[in-house]
Amino acid sequence: MHDPKVLVALDYADEKQAFNLIDRLQPELCRLKVGKEMFTHLGPQFIEKIHNKGFQVFLDLKYHDIPNTVARACEVAADMGVWMLNVHALGGRRMMEAAANALANKQDRPYLIAVTVLTSMSAEDVHELGIQQSPAELALHLAQMAKESSLDGVVCSAQEALAMRSQLGHDFLLVTPGIRPTGSAADDQRRIMTPLDALHAGSSYLVIGRPITQAADPVAVLGAINSELFPLPS
Ligand code: C5P
Repeated sequence: MHDPKVLVALDYADEKQAFNLIDRLQPELCRLKVGKEMFTHLGPQFIEKIHNKGFQVFLDLKYHDIPNTVARACEVAADMGVWMLNVHALGGRRMMEAAANALANKQDRPYLIAVTVLTSMSAEDVHELGIQQSPAELALHLAQMAKESSLDGVVCSAQEALAMRSQLGHDFLLVTPGIRPTGSAADDQRRIMTPLDALHAGSSYLVIGRPITQAADPVAVLGAINSELFPLPS
């Protein structure tokens, strides 16, 4: 199997529901994203249980604090053995550099990526912060800063991926949420893209939640996405 492209967003209220899904998935087919709700509720033991089942974890805690605090938090996350973790680029260059430095000498260090502008923020929200750039311009600017700070990539919408890819080059990871397989509900996502279109636009990894987690047959949905992304040679 190829490097799995799908990161399944485990947005569940409790562990039992999460394991109902996890126990039906396979590490060769996807990785798992654990966010603030589940981590706050279940902590590092939850990550350990997922690791024991052979899955790699994207710990989506979006650290944003003074450089020393973020660096220490990243180190602790790396010591839990996660595959990927993230910080807010708006924490600034010194914060991102401190985070990258804290991981630099780790064996099997996790990928460190940055959130640029939350996609929930409108142009008005950004202007209200006193920033004159559009959200898209700001996101590109912050992604450039993340790259200069030795981060491995950014979270961005698939719509931004083409511009990000051309500006930031091929080695930079683009992790894109807002992915909807053809025919599935948009839910509360406003700008969506299919898995294959997102990959063609330059996405490195696709964060997919409800189309898989709320499906009657999550394994079939994941299988269909993977066969769209990795068609068998004819
Ligand atoms: O269910 P759905 O596929 O919309 O889930 C997407 C996941 O990606 C959720 O965990 C959501 O919090 C996260 N996310 C997002 N948009 C962003 C950043 C993260 O949807 N810009």
